[in-house]
Amino acid sequence: MKPAQIQPEEAKCIVCQEAITNPICPECMRKQIKGWHPSLGESLVIPKSETGVRCLFCGKYMGVCAHCYSEEADDLIGRKRPKLQKEFREIFGLRKEAQI
Ligand SMILES: [Zn+2]
Ligand SMILES: [Zn+2]
Repeated sequence: MKPAQIQPEEAKCIVCQEAITNPICPECMRKQIKGWHPSLGESLVIPKSETGVRCLFCGKYMGVCAHCYSEEADDLIGRKRPKLQKEFREIFGLRKEAQI
């Protein structure tokens, strides 16, 4: 018996193509970033993409996983406020993969 749920192929992040297992939408991520650093939060772009996954917090459909979105935020912070990058990674639990 399958529960009436999202098909796995609809629940993939459009960026990394991985299943979205911890659905937090970019908008909610941005809210958290804004709470930490308002002007950086303002600079972040919300990707307009949807899959069959709904955000845990706001219930909106989302298309980019929290991991990919935090990578994007990390990039932006690296360009705009490099000094804040370390703090960002600590707060948001982002661990960059080791460079190959
Ligand atoms: Zn992703
Ligand atoms: Zn949300």
